[in-house]
Amino acid sequence: MTAEQNQSDASEDLDLTHISRQRLERVMVYLDDATRVLFDFLNAPRRSVSVSFPVEMEDGSVRVFKGYRVVHNRTLGPGKGGIRYHPDVTLDEVSFLATLMTWKCALIDVPFGGAKGGVACDTKQLSPIEIRRITRRFISELGNAIGPHTDIPAPDLYTNAQTMAWIYDTYDMLHPGKNNLPVVTGKPLDIGGSEGREEATGRGLFFAVQRFISTNLTPELTTLEGAHVNIQGFGNVGSIAAQAFKEAGALITGISDSEGGVYCEDGIDLESAHDHKDTHGTVVGLPGTQSLTHEAFVEHDCQILILAALNNEVRIDNAHNIKAQLVVEAANGPVTPGADKILNERGIQVLPDILANAGGVLVSYFEWVQNNENERWELSQVNAKLKSKMQNAVDAVVNRWRTLSTEEIANGSQELRSLQETTDDETQWVSSTQVDLRTAALAIAIERLCKVTIERGVWP
Ligand code: NAD
Repeated sequence: MTAEQNQSDASEDLDLTHISRQRLERVMVYLDDATRVLFDFLNAPRRSVSVSFPVEMEDGSVRVFKGYRVVHNRTLGPGKGGIRYHPDVTLDEVSFLATLMTWKCALIDVPFGGAKGGVACDTKQLSPIEIRRITRRFISELGNAIGPHTDIPAPDLYTNAQTMAWIYDTYDMLHPGKNNLPVVTGKPLDIGGSEGREEATGRGLFFAVQRFISTNLTPELTTLEGAHVNIQGFGNVGSIAAQAFKEAGALITGISDSEGGVYCEDGIDLESAHDHKDTHGTVVGLPGTQSLTHEAFVEHDCQILILAALNNEVRIDNAHNIKAQLVVEAANGPVTPGADKILNERGIQVLPDILANAGGVLVSYFEWVQNNENERWELSQVNAKLKSKMQNAVDAVVNRWRTLSTEEIANGSQELRSLQETTDDETQWVSSTQVDLRTAALAIAIERLCKVTIERGVWP
Protein backbone atom coordinates (compact mmCIF):
# COMPACT_ATOMS: atom_id res chain seq x y z
CA MET A 1 0.00 0.00 0.00
CA THR A 2 1.31 3.44 -0.88
CA ALA A 3 2.02 6.20 1.62
CA GLU A 4 -0.76 8.19 -0.02
CA GLN A 5 -3.27 5.43 0.61
CA ASN A 6 -2.21 5.15 4.26
CA GLN A 7 -2.64 8.86 4.64
CA SER A 8 -6.20 8.72 3.36
CA ASP A 9 -7.04 5.64 5.49
CA ALA A 10 -6.72 7.70 8.62
CA SER A 11 -9.18 10.26 7.32
CA GLU A 12 -12.09 8.02 6.26
CA ASP A 13 -15.20 9.16 8.06
CA LEU A 14 -17.24 6.09 9.04
CA ASP A 15 -19.87 7.94 11.06
CA LEU A 16 -23.16 6.49 9.81
CA THR A 17 -25.04 9.81 9.97
CA HIS A 18 -22.33 11.39 7.84
CA ILE A 19 -22.30 8.50 5.36
CA SER A 20 -26.07 8.76 4.96
CA ARG A 21 -25.88 12.52 4.33
CA GLN A 22 -22.87 12.19 1.99
CA ARG A 23 -24.73 9.69 -0.20
CA LEU A 24 -27.80 11.90 -0.33
CA GLU A 25 -25.68 14.91 -1.28
CA ARG A 26 -23.99 12.92 -4.01
CA VAL A 27 -27.25 11.89 -5.68
CA MET A 28 -28.67 15.45 -5.46
CA VAL A 29 -26.13 16.46 -8.11
CA TYR A 30 -28.14 14.41 -10.61
CA LEU A 31 -31.63 15.54 -9.54
CA ASP A 32 -33.67 18.67 -10.30
CA ASP A 33 -34.22 21.78 -8.19
CA ALA A 34 -37.69 20.69 -7.02
CA THR A 35 -36.09 17.61 -5.45
CA ARG A 36 -33.13 19.47 -3.99
CA VAL A 37 -35.50 21.73 -2.05
CA LEU A 38 -36.53 18.61 -0.12
CA PHE A 39 -32.98 17.72 0.97
CA ASP A 40 -33.44 18.46 4.69
CA PHE A 41 -36.78 16.64 4.71
CA LEU A 42 -35.16 13.58 3.12
CA ASN A 43 -32.16 13.68 5.43
CA ALA A 44 -33.97 13.89 8.78
CA PRO A 45 -35.84 10.96 10.37
CA ARG A 46 -39.49 11.76 10.89
CA ARG A 47 -39.76 10.25 14.34
CA SER A 48 -37.29 8.67 16.78
CA VAL A 49 -38.39 6.86 19.91
CA SER A 50 -35.87 5.88 22.63
CA VAL A 51 -36.95 3.75 25.57
CA SER A 52 -35.30 2.26 28.66
CA PHE A 53 -37.04 -0.60 30.39
CA PRO A 54 -36.33 -3.03 33.24
CA VAL A 55 -36.36 -6.81 32.78
CA GLU A 56 -36.21 -9.41 35.50
CA MET A 57 -33.47 -11.91 34.60
CA GLU A 58 -33.69 -15.63 35.35
CA ASP A 59 -31.26 -15.26 38.28
CA GLY A 60 -33.63 -12.74 39.93
CA SER A 61 -31.55 -9.65 39.11
CA VAL A 62 -33.10 -6.69 37.26
CA ARG A 63 -31.37 -5.23 34.20
CA VAL A 64 -32.30 -2.09 32.28
CA PHE A 65 -32.19 -2.29 28.45
CA LYS A 66 -32.23 0.51 25.89
CA GLY A 67 -34.35 0.24 22.77
CA TYR A 68 -35.03 2.43 19.74
CA ARG A 69 -37.54 2.70 16.94
CA VAL A 70 -37.06 5.22 14.16
CA VAL A 71 -39.47 6.02 11.33
CA HIS A 72 -37.46 7.82 8.70
CA ASN A 73 -40.23 8.53 6.19
CA ARG A 74 -43.89 7.58 5.73
CA THR A 75 -44.71 9.36 2.49
CA LEU A 76 -45.22 6.18 0.46
CA GLY A 77 -46.93 4.17 3.19
CA PRO A 78 -46.46 2.83 6.73
CA GLY A 79 -42.94 2.60 8.11
CA LYS A 80 -41.32 -0.80 7.45
CA GLY A 81 -38.12 -2.22 8.85
CA GLY A 82 -36.53 -4.82 11.08
CA ILE A 83 -35.82 -4.95 14.79
CA ARG A 84 -32.28 -6.04 15.69
CA TYR A 85 -30.86 -7.25 18.99
CA HIS A 86 -27.15 -6.50 19.20
CA PRO A 87 -24.83 -4.97 21.83
CA ASP A 88 -23.76 -2.21 19.40
CA VAL A 89 -27.27 -0.95 18.62
CA THR A 90 -27.44 2.85 18.88
CA LEU A 91 -29.94 5.50 17.83
CA ASP A 92 -27.55 6.61 15.05
CA GLU A 93 -27.27 3.09 13.65
CA VAL A 94 -31.04 2.58 13.75
CA SER A 95 -31.60 5.96 12.03
CA PHE A 96 -29.08 5.08 9.29
CA LEU A 97 -30.80 1.75 8.67
CA ALA A 98 -34.28 3.35 8.71
CA THR A 99 -33.13 5.77 6.02
CA LEU A 100 -31.88 2.88 3.87
CA MET A 101 -35.29 1.24 4.27
CA THR A 102 -36.97 4.34 2.86
CA TRP A 103 -34.79 4.26 -0.25
CA LYS A 104 -35.16 0.46 -0.57
CA CYS A 105 -38.97 0.47 -0.43
CA ALA A 106 -39.15 3.35 -2.91
CA LEU A 107 -36.69 1.66 -5.29
CA ILE A 108 -38.35 -1.74 -5.22
CA ASP A 109 -41.72 -0.01 -5.54
CA VAL A 110 -43.64 -1.22 -2.49
CA PRO A 111 -46.02 1.17 -0.70
CA PHE A 112 -44.00 1.41 2.51
CA GLY A 113 -41.86 4.03 4.15
CA GLY A 114 -38.62 3.32 5.99
CA ALA A 115 -38.22 2.37 9.66
CA LYS A 116 -35.89 0.37 11.89
CA GLY A 117 -35.61 -0.61 15.53
CA GLY A 118 -33.36 -2.34 17.95
CA VAL A 119 -32.47 -3.22 21.50
CA ALA A 120 -28.89 -3.04 22.78
CA CYS A 121 -28.38 -6.55 24.12
CA ASP A 122 -26.28 -9.66 23.51
CA THR A 123 -28.61 -12.56 22.74
CA LYS A 124 -25.68 -15.01 23.09
CA GLN A 125 -25.66 -14.17 26.82
CA LEU A 126 -29.45 -14.36 27.27
CA SER A 127 -31.82 -17.29 27.75
CA PRO A 128 -34.88 -17.69 25.48
CA ILE A 129 -37.11 -16.66 28.41
CA GLU A 130 -35.08 -13.47 28.92
CA ILE A 131 -35.24 -12.67 25.19
CA ARG A 132 -39.01 -13.15 25.31
CA ARG A 133 -39.32 -10.80 28.31
CA ILE A 134 -37.15 -8.17 26.57
CA THR A 135 -39.29 -8.44 23.45
CA ARG A 136 -42.62 -8.14 25.25
CA ARG A 137 -41.45 -5.25 27.40
CA PHE A 138 -39.90 -3.41 24.42
CA ILE A 139 -43.07 -3.73 22.34
CA SER A 140 -45.28 -2.62 25.21
CA GLU A 141 -43.00 0.42 25.74
CA LEU A 142 -43.39 1.29 22.04
CA GLY A 143 -47.18 1.18 22.51
CA ASN A 144 -48.92 2.80 19.55
CA ALA A 145 -45.61 3.74 17.92
CA ILE A 146 -46.02 0.55 15.85
CA GLY A 147 -49.22 -0.62 14.17
CA PRO A 148 -50.48 -2.52 11.09
CA HIS A 149 -50.94 0.74 9.14
CA THR A 150 -48.34 2.99 10.76
CA ASP A 151 -45.09 1.12 11.38
CA ILE A 152 -44.51 -2.59 10.78
CA PRO A 153 -41.45 -4.39 12.26
CA ALA A 154 -39.69 -7.48 10.86
CA PRO A 155 -36.69 -9.67 11.80
CA ASP A 156 -33.13 -8.38 11.61
CA LEU A 157 -29.81 -9.33 13.24
CA TYR A 158 -30.37 -11.84 16.07
CA THR A 159 -34.16 -11.71 15.86
CA ASN A 160 -36.21 -14.32 14.04
CA ALA A 161 -39.68 -15.74 13.42
CA GLN A 162 -40.03 -16.62 17.12
CA THR A 163 -39.27 -13.01 18.10
CA MET A 164 -41.87 -11.83 15.58
CA ALA A 165 -44.44 -14.23 17.08
CA TRP A 166 -43.85 -12.61 20.52
CA ILE A 167 -44.15 -9.14 18.98
CA TYR A 168 -47.46 -10.07 17.36
CA ASP A 169 -48.77 -11.67 20.54
CA THR A 170 -47.82 -8.67 22.69
CA TYR A 171 -49.36 -6.17 20.29
CA ASP A 172 -52.48 -8.32 19.95
CA MET A 173 -52.88 -8.46 23.75
CA LEU A 174 -52.70 -4.66 23.90
CA HIS A 175 -55.03 -4.11 20.91
CA PRO A 176 -57.66 -6.90 21.13
CA GLY A 177 -60.64 -7.42 18.85
CA LYS A 178 -59.18 -6.87 15.37
CA ASN A 179 -56.93 -8.52 12.82
CA ASN A 180 -53.48 -7.57 14.11
CA LEU A 181 -51.51 -10.04 11.96
CA PRO A 182 -50.21 -7.27 9.63
CA VAL A 183 -48.49 -5.48 12.56
CA VAL A 184 -45.32 -7.51 12.01
CA THR A 185 -43.85 -9.62 9.19
CA GLY A 186 -41.42 -12.53 9.22
CA LYS A 187 -43.81 -14.46 11.48
CA PRO A 188 -43.91 -18.27 11.66
CA LEU A 189 -45.96 -19.84 8.85
CA ASP A 190 -48.74 -20.95 11.20
CA ILE A 191 -49.16 -17.39 12.58
CA GLY A 192 -49.67 -15.65 9.25
CA GLY A 193 -46.10 -15.85 7.95
CA SER A 194 -45.53 -16.06 4.20
CA GLU A 195 -44.11 -18.94 2.25
CA GLY A 196 -40.63 -17.99 1.08
CA ARG A 197 -40.06 -15.12 3.54
CA GLU A 198 -37.08 -16.70 5.29
CA GLU A 199 -35.26 -17.34 2.02
CA ALA A 200 -36.42 -14.12 0.34
CA THR A 201 -33.32 -11.96 0.79
CA GLY A 202 -30.83 -14.59 -0.39
CA ARG A 203 -33.08 -15.71 -3.22
CA GLY A 204 -33.87 -12.13 -4.27
CA LEU A 205 -30.15 -11.33 -4.26
CA PHE A 206 -29.52 -14.26 -6.57
CA PHE A 207 -32.23 -13.08 -8.99
CA ALA A 208 -30.71 -9.59 -8.95
CA VAL A 209 -27.16 -10.81 -9.70
CA GLN A 210 -28.37 -13.20 -12.38
CA ARG A 211 -30.17 -10.35 -14.13
CA PHE A 212 -27.36 -7.87 -13.62
CA ILE A 213 -24.65 -9.95 -15.25
CA SER A 214 -26.85 -10.34 -18.34
CA THR A 215 -26.69 -6.55 -18.91
CA ASN A 216 -23.06 -6.47 -20.08
CA LEU A 217 -21.88 -4.14 -17.34
CA THR A 218 -19.37 -6.75 -16.21
CA PRO A 219 -17.77 -7.64 -19.57
CA GLU A 220 -15.62 -10.44 -18.13
CA LEU A 221 -18.48 -11.95 -16.17
CA THR A 222 -21.42 -12.81 -18.36
CA THR A 223 -22.53 -16.16 -16.96
CA LEU A 224 -22.87 -17.75 -13.56
CA GLU A 225 -21.83 -21.12 -15.00
CA GLY A 226 -18.40 -21.77 -13.47
CA ALA A 227 -18.20 -18.32 -11.84
CA HIS A 228 -16.17 -18.20 -8.62
CA VAL A 229 -18.22 -16.78 -5.75
CA ASN A 230 -16.96 -15.87 -2.26
CA ILE A 231 -19.54 -15.18 0.44
CA GLN A 232 -18.70 -13.26 3.60
CA GLY A 233 -21.25 -14.30 6.24
CA PHE A 234 -22.57 -17.85 5.92
CA GLY A 235 -25.78 -17.09 7.83
CA ASN A 236 -29.35 -16.93 6.61
CA VAL A 237 -28.83 -14.69 3.59
CA GLY A 238 -25.35 -15.97 2.72
CA SER A 239 -26.21 -19.67 2.85
CA ILE A 240 -29.47 -19.32 0.91
CA ALA A 241 -27.68 -17.28 -1.76
CA ALA A 242 -24.86 -19.86 -1.84
CA GLN A 243 -27.32 -22.66 -2.63
CA ALA A 244 -29.01 -20.63 -5.39
CA PHE A 245 -25.66 -19.75 -7.02
CA LYS A 246 -24.54 -23.35 -6.81
CA GLU A 247 -27.74 -24.56 -8.47
CA ALA A 248 -27.07 -22.06 -11.28
CA GLY A 249 -23.68 -23.66 -11.91
CA ALA A 250 -21.43 -21.28 -9.94
CA LEU A 251 -18.59 -22.50 -7.73
CA ILE A 252 -18.82 -21.34 -4.13
CA THR A 253 -15.09 -20.94 -3.59
CA GLY A 254 -15.16 -19.11 -0.24
CA ILE A 255 -17.44 -18.76 2.79
CA SER A 256 -16.88 -17.10 6.15
CA ASP A 257 -18.49 -16.44 9.51
CA SER A 258 -17.62 -14.54 12.68
CA GLU A 259 -14.65 -16.89 13.33
CA GLY A 260 -12.99 -16.46 9.92
CA GLY A 261 -13.14 -17.77 6.36
CA VAL A 262 -12.37 -20.86 4.28
CA TYR A 263 -11.43 -21.13 0.60
CA CYS A 264 -11.24 -23.92 -1.97
CA GLU A 265 -10.59 -23.13 -5.63
CA ASP A 266 -12.48 -26.25 -6.77
CA GLY A 267 -15.62 -25.25 -4.87
CA ILE A 268 -16.87 -25.92 -1.36
CA ASP A 269 -19.39 -28.67 -0.68
CA LEU A 270 -22.24 -26.73 0.99
CA GLU A 271 -23.73 -29.71 2.77
CA SER A 272 -20.38 -30.46 4.44
CA ALA A 273 -20.04 -26.77 5.32
CA HIS A 274 -23.45 -26.80 7.07
CA ASP A 275 -22.58 -30.03 8.91
CA HIS A 276 -19.22 -28.61 10.00
CA LYS A 277 -20.85 -25.39 11.22
CA ASP A 278 -23.51 -27.34 13.13
CA THR A 279 -20.85 -29.47 14.83
CA HIS A 280 -18.11 -26.89 15.43
CA GLY A 281 -20.07 -23.62 15.45
CA THR A 282 -18.03 -22.28 12.53
CA VAL A 283 -17.04 -23.08 8.95
CA VAL A 284 -13.39 -22.59 9.88
CA GLY A 285 -11.50 -25.90 9.77
CA LEU A 286 -13.74 -27.43 7.10
CA PRO A 287 -11.67 -30.34 5.69
CA GLY A 288 -10.20 -29.71 2.23
CA THR A 289 -10.23 -25.93 2.57
CA GLN A 290 -7.66 -23.24 3.26
CA SER A 291 -8.37 -21.07 6.33
CA LEU A 292 -8.33 -17.30 5.92
CA THR A 293 -8.50 -14.36 8.33
CA HIS A 294 -11.38 -11.89 7.96
CA GLU A 295 -9.06 -9.41 6.28
CA ALA A 296 -7.60 -11.94 3.82
CA PHE A 297 -11.03 -13.36 2.98
CA VAL A 298 -12.43 -10.09 1.63
CA GLU A 299 -9.36 -9.60 -0.58
CA HIS A 300 -9.15 -13.18 -1.83
CA ASP A 301 -9.51 -14.31 -5.47
CA CYS A 302 -13.06 -14.59 -6.83
CA GLN A 303 -15.27 -13.09 -9.51
CA ILE A 304 -18.27 -12.27 -7.32
CA LEU A 305 -17.84 -11.17 -3.70
CA ILE A 306 -21.05 -11.23 -1.66
CA LEU A 307 -20.91 -9.26 1.58
CA ALA A 308 -23.55 -10.80 3.86
CA ALA A 309 -22.26 -9.97 7.33
CA LEU A 310 -21.65 -6.46 8.67
CA ASN A 311 -21.37 -2.82 7.56
CA ASN A 312 -18.07 -1.06 6.68
CA GLU A 313 -16.29 -4.25 5.57
CA VAL A 314 -14.80 -2.81 2.35
CA ARG A 315 -13.12 0.50 3.15
CA ILE A 316 -10.42 2.66 1.64
CA ASP A 317 -7.77 0.54 3.38
CA ASN A 318 -8.74 -2.68 1.55
CA ALA A 319 -10.70 -1.54 -1.54
CA HIS A 320 -7.49 -1.40 -3.58
CA ASN A 321 -6.97 -5.12 -2.95
CA ILE A 322 -10.41 -6.44 -3.90
CA LYS A 323 -10.06 -9.03 -6.70
CA ALA A 324 -13.75 -9.53 -7.54
CA GLN A 325 -15.30 -8.09 -10.69
CA LEU A 326 -18.63 -7.67 -8.93
CA VAL A 327 -19.24 -6.84 -5.27
CA VAL A 328 -22.75 -7.50 -3.96
CA GLU A 329 -24.05 -5.83 -0.80
CA ALA A 330 -26.27 -8.34 0.97
CA ALA A 331 -25.70 -6.59 4.31
CA ASN A 332 -26.61 -2.94 4.78
CA GLY A 333 -23.72 -0.59 4.11
CA PRO A 334 -20.78 -3.04 3.83
CA VAL A 335 -18.98 -0.78 1.31
CA THR A 336 -18.01 2.69 2.57
CA PRO A 337 -18.29 5.84 0.38
CA GLY A 338 -14.47 5.99 0.12
CA ALA A 339 -14.36 2.37 -1.04
CA ASP A 340 -17.21 3.03 -3.51
CA LYS A 341 -15.03 5.61 -5.22
CA ILE A 342 -11.97 3.35 -5.37
CA LEU A 343 -13.92 0.36 -6.68
CA ASN A 344 -15.62 2.55 -9.27
CA GLU A 345 -12.29 3.90 -10.47
CA ARG A 346 -11.00 0.33 -10.70
CA GLY A 347 -13.98 -0.72 -12.84
CA ILE A 348 -15.47 -2.99 -10.16
CA GLN A 349 -19.24 -2.79 -10.02
CA VAL A 350 -21.04 -2.70 -6.66
CA LEU A 351 -24.62 -3.93 -6.60
CA PRO A 352 -25.89 -1.69 -3.77
CA ASP A 353 -27.73 -2.86 -0.67
CA ILE A 354 -30.98 -1.06 -1.42
CA LEU A 355 -31.23 -3.16 -4.58
CA ALA A 356 -29.40 -6.40 -3.76
CA ASN A 357 -31.04 -7.18 -0.41
CA ALA A 358 -34.50 -5.80 -1.17
CA GLY A 359 -36.00 -9.30 -1.54
CA GLY A 360 -36.60 -9.46 2.21
CA VAL A 361 -38.79 -6.39 2.42
CA LEU A 362 -40.50 -7.36 -0.80
CA VAL A 363 -41.72 -10.68 0.59
CA SER A 364 -42.52 -8.92 3.87
CA TYR A 365 -44.84 -6.76 1.80
CA PHE A 366 -46.37 -9.91 0.28
CA GLU A 367 -46.91 -11.25 3.82
CA TRP A 368 -48.58 -7.99 4.87
CA VAL A 369 -50.90 -8.12 1.83
CA GLN A 370 -51.82 -11.76 2.57
CA ASN A 371 -52.53 -10.88 6.24
CA ASN A 372 -54.75 -7.95 5.27
CA GLU A 373 -56.67 -10.03 2.76
CA ASN A 374 -56.77 -13.22 4.85
CA GLU A 375 -55.08 -15.10 2.04
CA ARG A 376 -52.22 -17.55 1.71
CA TRP A 377 -50.14 -17.61 -1.46
CA GLU A 378 -48.28 -20.62 -2.84
CA LEU A 379 -44.48 -20.59 -2.69
CA SER A 380 -44.30 -20.62 -6.50
CA GLN A 381 -46.50 -17.49 -6.60
CA VAL A 382 -44.30 -15.70 -4.03
CA ASN A 383 -41.09 -16.60 -5.86
CA ALA A 384 -42.45 -15.61 -9.28
CA LYS A 385 -43.47 -12.18 -7.94
CA LEU A 386 -40.11 -11.83 -6.16
CA LYS A 387 -38.16 -12.65 -9.32
CA SER A 388 -40.16 -10.30 -11.47
CA LYS A 389 -39.89 -7.36 -9.02
CA MET A 390 -36.12 -7.89 -8.52
CA GLN A 391 -35.54 -8.07 -12.26
CA ASN A 392 -37.58 -4.92 -12.87
CA ALA A 393 -35.60 -3.08 -10.22
CA VAL A 394 -32.26 -4.19 -11.71
CA ASP A 395 -33.38 -3.12 -15.19
CA ALA A 396 -34.50 0.26 -13.86
CA VAL A 397 -31.18 0.85 -12.08
CA VAL A 398 -29.08 -0.22 -15.08
CA ASN A 399 -31.14 1.97 -17.43
CA ARG A 400 -30.83 4.91 -15.08
CA TRP A 401 -27.09 4.30 -14.80
CA ARG A 402 -26.79 4.36 -18.59
CA THR A 403 -28.77 7.60 -18.80
CA LEU A 404 -26.75 9.31 -16.10
CA SER A 405 -23.49 8.13 -17.69
CA THR A 406 -24.60 9.48 -21.08
CA GLU A 407 -25.47 12.82 -19.49
CA GLU A 408 -22.07 12.99 -17.87
CA ILE A 409 -20.40 12.36 -21.20
CA ALA A 410 -22.62 14.95 -22.89
CA ASN A 411 -21.52 17.36 -20.20
CA GLY A 412 -18.02 16.99 -21.54
CA SER A 413 -16.06 14.73 -19.25
CA GLN A 414 -13.04 13.67 -21.31
CA GLU A 415 -12.26 11.02 -18.76
CA LEU A 416 -15.64 9.41 -19.25
CA ARG A 417 -15.59 9.72 -22.99
CA SER A 418 -12.39 7.73 -23.07
CA LEU A 419 -14.20 4.93 -21.27
CA GLN A 420 -16.88 4.58 -23.90
CA GLU A 421 -16.27 1.71 -26.27
CA THR A 422 -18.17 1.35 -29.49
CA THR A 423 -18.87 -2.14 -30.74
CA ASP A 424 -20.42 -3.11 -34.08
CA ASP A 425 -24.00 -3.35 -32.95
CA GLU A 426 -24.28 -1.01 -30.01
CA THR A 427 -22.47 1.36 -27.79
CA GLN A 428 -21.26 -0.63 -24.85
CA TRP A 429 -20.26 0.92 -21.59
CA VAL A 430 -17.34 -0.36 -19.66
CA SER A 431 -18.04 -0.15 -15.99
CA SER A 432 -15.63 2.51 -14.80
CA THR A 433 -17.53 5.77 -14.97
CA GLN A 434 -17.99 8.42 -12.35
CA VAL A 435 -21.61 7.68 -11.64
CA ASP A 436 -22.10 4.35 -9.91
CA LEU A 437 -25.01 1.94 -9.53
CA ARG A 438 -25.71 3.13 -5.99
CA THR A 439 -26.22 6.67 -7.18
CA ALA A 440 -28.47 5.46 -10.01
CA ALA A 441 -30.54 3.39 -7.55
CA LEU A 442 -30.82 6.30 -5.14
CA ALA A 443 -31.84 8.65 -7.93
CA ILE A 444 -34.80 6.40 -8.80
CA ALA A 445 -35.84 5.99 -5.16
CA ILE A 446 -35.60 9.66 -4.28
CA GLU A 447 -37.37 10.83 -7.40
CA ARG A 448 -40.28 8.47 -6.70
CA LEU A 449 -40.48 9.64 -3.13
CA CYS A 450 -40.23 13.33 -3.98
CA LYS A 451 -42.87 13.07 -6.70
CA VAL A 452 -45.35 11.71 -4.15
CA THR A 453 -44.24 14.23 -1.51
CA ILE A 454 -44.97 17.06 -3.92
CA GLU A 455 -48.29 15.50 -5.04
CA ARG A 456 -49.41 15.11 -1.42
CA GLY A 457 -48.16 18.59 -0.54
CA VAL A 458 -46.20 19.61 2.51
CA TRP A 459 -48.73 19.72 5.34
CA PRO A 460 -50.51 22.07 6.13
P1 NAD B 1 -27.33 -14.05 10.18
O1 NAD B 1 -27.16 -13.67 11.60
O2 NAD B 1 -28.16 -15.24 9.84
O3 NAD B 1 -25.90 -14.29 9.51
C1 NAD B 1 -24.83 -13.41 9.67
C2 NAD B 1 -23.57 -14.22 9.45
O4 NAD B 1 -22.46 -13.34 9.45
C3 NAD B 1 -23.30 -15.25 10.55
O5 NAD B 1 -22.92 -16.46 9.94
C4 NAD B 1 -22.13 -14.67 11.32
O6 NAD B 1 -21.30 -15.67 11.88
C5 NAD B 1 -21.42 -13.94 10.20
N1 NAD B 1 -20.47 -12.92 10.65
C6 NAD B 1 -20.53 -12.10 11.72
N2 NAD B 1 -19.42 -11.34 11.77
C7 NAD B 1 -18.68 -11.68 10.69
C8 NAD B 1 -17.43 -11.25 10.18
N3 NAD B 1 -16.73 -10.29 10.77
N4 NAD B 1 -16.97 -11.80 9.04
C9 NAD B 1 -17.66 -12.76 8.42
N5 NAD B 1 -18.85 -13.22 8.85
C10 NAD B 1 -19.35 -12.68 9.98
O7 NAD B 1 -27.87 -12.74 9.46
P2 NAD B 1 -28.59 -12.66 8.04
O8 NAD B 1 -30.04 -12.62 8.23
O9 NAD B 1 -27.97 -13.64 7.11
O10 NAD B 1 -28.16 -11.18 7.59
C11 NAD B 1 -26.88 -10.93 7.05
C12 NAD B 1 -26.79 -9.44 6.72
O11 NAD B 1 -27.79 -9.13 5.76
C13 NAD B 1 -27.04 -8.54 7.93
O12 NAD B 1 -26.20 -7.43 7.84
C14 NAD B 1 -28.48 -8.11 7.75
O13 NAD B 1 -28.75 -6.84 8.33
C15 NAD B 1 -28.59 -8.06 6.25
N6 NAD B 1 -29.95 -8.22 5.76
C16 NAD B 1 -30.66 -9.32 6.11
C17 NAD B 1 -31.95 -9.46 5.65
C18 NAD B 1 -32.76 -10.69 5.98
O14 NAD B 1 -33.89 -10.80 5.49
N7 NAD B 1 -32.24 -11.62 6.75
C19 NAD B 1 -32.52 -8.47 4.84
C20 NAD B 1 -31.76 -7.37 4.48
C21 NAD B 1 -30.46 -7.25 4.96
